[in-house]
Amino acid sequence: MPTSGRTRIKDLLDVERLDNVSNPVAVNGWVKTVRSSGGVSFVQINDGSSLADLQIVVDASCPDYALVGNLTTGCSLTVFGVLQESLGRGQKYEVVASSLEMLGGADPEEYPLQKKRHTLEFLRELAHLRPRTNTFGAVARVRNAMAFGIHQFFQQRGFLYIQTPIITASDAEGAGAMFRATTLDLDNLPTQAGHVDNDADFFGRPAFLTVSGQLEAEIFAQAMSDVYTFGPTFRAENSNTSRHLAEFWMVEPEVAFCDLDGLAQLAEDFLRGIFAHVLETCPEDMAFFNRFYDKELIATLEDIANSDFERMTYTEAVRLLEESGESFEFPVRWGADLQSEHERYLTERKVGRPVIVTDYPSAIKAFYMRLNDDGETVRAMDVLVPRIGEIIGGSQREERLDVLQRRMVEAGLDDAPYWWYLDLRRYGTTPHAGFGLGFERTVQFATGMQNIRDIIAFPRTPRSAEF
Ligand code: ATP
Ligand code: MN
Repeated sequence: MPTSGRTRIKDLLDVERLDNVSNPVAVNGWVKTVRSSGGVSFVQINDGSSLADLQIVVDASCPDYALVGNLTTGCSLTVFGVLQESLGRGQKYEVVASSLEMLGGADPEEYPLQKKRHTLEFLRELAHLRPRTNTFGAVARVRNAMAFGIHQFFQQRGFLYIQTPIITASDAEGAGAMFRATTLDLDNLPTQAGHVDNDADFFGRPAFLTVSGQLEAEIFAQAMSDVYTFGPTFRAENSNTSRHLAEFWMVEPEVAFCDLDGLAQLAEDFLRGIFAHVLETCPEDMAFFNRFYDKELIATLEDIANSDFERMTYTEAVRLLEESGESFEFPVRWGADLQSEHERYLTERKVGRPVIVTDYPSAIKAFYMRLNDDGETVRAMDVLVPRIGEIIGGSQREERLDVLQRRMVEAGLDDAPYWWYLDLRRYGTTPHAGFGLGFERTVQFATGMQNIRDIIAFPRTPRSAEF
C-alpha cells in the first residue's frame, strides 16, 4: 500500500503538461460512481483534495478488471495507472488503470450516501460521512483556506498569534451565558452551609468554558502591541438560530495605541482581505457554491473586497430604521439593542454593502467599552453584512482606571476577580481596541450556506452533541 508514492488527485488534475508527469501514477480515493459500457468501466474517485473527481478507466487489459464488479459508491481504492488526456468529455485527464486494489468495501444496501442529492438536514445526522459529499468537502476546503488566510493577514502585519485559556474563572465578561467546567459529583454535591462547596471543586472556585479570549488578549496587547487569538469559544445560550452555535471559533485581534477608527479600518481591511483570499485560492469550490447555493455569491464577495464599508453611529442607524417605514417584529427605539432584522435592513436594503455601526448606548454594551464624552454611549462597533447581520463585534476599551471602576459598579460586577485587568490600567495604560469575529459566521457568509451547522464539522447546539 503506497502512502509515500501517492499523488493527490488535485495535483494530477492541475498539471499543465502531461510530460511533466512521471507515469505510472498511484492514486487513492473513495468511489463516487461506477459506470460500465461496452467492456469498459469508468470509476469516479475523490480523495478530498479537490471538488473534481478523477476518472479511472478500467478495461479488460487490466488484470484486476474482474474487481470492478465489486466496486460501489463509498468503497476505498488504490489505483496504479497512466495519466492521459481524457477521451471522454467532462474532464481533461483520466487514469487508465494497470492495477486496482480495493481497500475497504461499502455495502450498497447499507451505505447511506447514495448518488442522489441528500438534504443538508439529513446529512447533519451523518456528520461522520458528510465530508465525502461535494458540499461538505467544499466547506472543509474553504474553511481551511480562510483559517490560513486569517493567519496570513495578521502575520503579514506583524501581529502575534497568542493562545488564551479555554477554562476561565471570570464569570461575567458580559458576552454570553457560560458552561460550567466542574469535577464535582453532581449526584452528590458537597455543601457548605446549605450551598455548593465550590472550594471542593477542581480549581477551588467555580470555573467555566470561556466565551471570549479578549481580556487575556488585552494583557498581551499591553506588552506586544498587536496580537490576535484564534480559538474555540463556548456560549450556553439557548438560541436555536441558523447563526448560533454553542461551540464556535473566534478570531480576536487586540491592538494597543489604537482607537475605534483604527479598529474599524482594521476590520474592514481584514474582511476585504480574507474574502479576496478565498476567491483567489478556492476558485472551484467558490464556483460550486455560487452555482448551487447563491447565484450572487461571487459577485457579492468581489464587491465587498473592492468597496469601502459604510459607517454610521448607532443613533444614525436608529433614525434610519425609524424613517424606513418598515414594520419590524421588534420595535425600534433608541436604547434598545439592534435585532437581526434591523441589522439586515441596514446592510441589505438601506446600504447594500457591509455597514459598521458605532457608538452604542452604554447600557446595552459590556463594561469594558470606552465611555464617550456624552456619558451615554460607548465606543463599540458592530460590522454588519447582508444575509448574516452581525459578523464582528468590537470596541475601543476603557483605559481610564476610574471610569472603568465606575462602570463595573454600575454593571453590578465585583471587581475583585478583575484585579489583574484593572492593573493594566494602573501601569502604563494605553488607548487600545479589539474585536471578535465569528469564524463560522464568516465562512457561512463566504459560502452562501444557509445554516451555521453546516459550516462546522461537528456542530454543538442545544440538545445536540453527537459525534
Ligand atoms: P449575536 O448578537 O449575533 O448573538 P454577540 O453580540 O453575542 O452576537 P459578540 O459577543 O460580539 O457576539 O461575539 C463576536 C462575534 O462572535 C459575533 O460578531 C459573531 O460573529 C460571533 N458569535 C457570537 N455568538 C455566536 C454564536 N453563538 N455562534 C456563532 N458565532 C457567534
Ligand atoms: Mn456583538
